[in-house]
Amino acid sequence: MKRTFLSLFLALSLSFSLSAQDKVTQTVLELGRTDNHTMVHADYIARNIGGRLVGTHMLHHAEDWVAEQFRSWGLEVTMQEAVEIGVGFDRGPWSGRMLSEDGMMLHFGTPAYTAGTRGPQKGRVLLEPKSQREFDRVKGALKGSWVLVETGPTNGLAIDASAKADSLRAAQLAEGKEGSVLMYRQMVDAGVLGFIRPAKMPMQVLYNRATCFDITMDNLPKACDIVLDEHQFALIKQKVVDRQDFQLEFDIRNHFFPGPMKYHNILAVIKGSKYPDEYVMMGSHLDAFDIATGSTDDGQGVCVTMEAARLLAAAGAKPKRSIMFCIWTAEEYGLMGSKYFVEKKTIPWNKISNYFNRDGGPLAAVSITVPPVMYDDFAEVCKPLENYNPKIPFSVQKRQGDPQPRPTRAGGSDHAYFAMNGIPAISFRESDVFGYDFNYRDIWHTEDDLYDKLIPEYMEHSAVVQAVTAYGLANLNHLLSREGLYKE
Ligand SMILES: [Zn+2]
Repeated sequence: MKRTFLSLFLALSLSFSLSAQDKVTQTVLELGRTDNHTMVHADYIARNIGGRLVGTHMLHHAEDWVAEQFRSWGLEVTMQEAVEIGVGFDRGPWSGRMLSEDGMMLHFGTPAYTAGTRGPQKGRVLLEPKSQREFDRVKGALKGSWVLVETGPTNGLAIDASAKADSLRAAQLAEGKEGSVLMYRQMVDAGVLGFIRPAKMPMQVLYNRATCFDITMDNLPKACDIVLDEHQFALIKQKVVDRQDFQLEFDIRNHFFPGPMKYHNILAVIKGSKYPDEYVMMGSHLDAFDIATGSTDDGQGVCVTMEAARLLAAAGAKPKRSIMFCIWTAEEYGLMGSKYFVEKKTIPWNKISNYFNRDGGPLAAVSITVPPVMYDDFAEVCKPLENYNPKIPFSVQKRQGDPQPRPTRAGGSDHAYFAMNGIPAISFRESDVFGYDFNYRDIWHTEDDLYDKLIPEYMEHSAVVQAVTAYGLANLNHLLSREGLYKE
């Protein structure tokens, strides 16, 4: 009798916990369809924040906004200081034009941590002198001029203006390598306004960690560092070769200020009820290049991660183990935020079930491939997703063949340091299911990384996939097994 009662009790409590779980999942699925905020977050990022480089105030604004959103949904938020940079810089608007009969507007960019102008500045244009003799011929004219520097295709990395680079160039010149060495310091000392290099389209303007982190208020860059649409570059060069009389005017508002500027990983948690010290994790990076709005890299990932959190909070999720939503800093400067998190053992490595990274464009999460030992867990947890959206079916695949060796070098994105340290960091496979001719390479790190490139239906769907999967894993009675994860 007693035993019957006990088993009845067990059956009841099991069905209660199952139905409570189903209820949360059902609510997430329903809200994901009817009240999905993924694009609300994306709109805010593009409209009110924009580019978010480490070193800028905008990244601080972005951090504050993300943290406040998580708090408003009831999550516990920790700001983990992970990066410090000595001198800060902010980018204002930039414009340029050719002052001649055609008045052409110039299509260009500059790294934000290179010199701005003193308001609009006009100057004539010279070709880079390639020898001491050529230098001597123009040395009086260099002051107040823009100099065309013909490089190969540039990805917009700043010209290295460090003292170290100067002495390297001086040594090369002394060795007689004239012609292949930029006479950078000589031209800066002669008073050039700046350098102009040709850029392939779509334009990239990237960071240069050495340059950014080595700036002090005493050695601020002096000469502008412009990358110009290669077609305009060719046209302007021809005018110079023809010795036509014309000027270019640039107005570049890159502003430096004393730091230190500190940046944070934003760690938001839905606390586990039974295994609070164990975690299912997901994340994306908040910092972004800034000649566009960083909407796809990685604004979309941030929005999806945030929305997964909001959906779960709105559904009243109280999982057994904790779910952590990580909004990383300084990914573009070498995965600095996630590296710090992992290496500091912020969460003990053996307490992480899986880390899901999202940083590969605004595509739809359509499947996940897992080691055989994880298959049953994932199949159960992801079951509600199978037919959630009949147009974007979801599947769990068992990995075929042997595991790969554990990665030994960091690269790619914020999953790297997890994987290198043996922590499961399996990501969803993402796909352009409807065939929108999406090509991330056209956008990635370019001036086209804009809100218009986002694909709402894919992102909204992915937020639901991430929420349901993380919640299901957090409710298992065990952490995911690591057996056969890597070839050891
Ligand atoms: Zn990225």
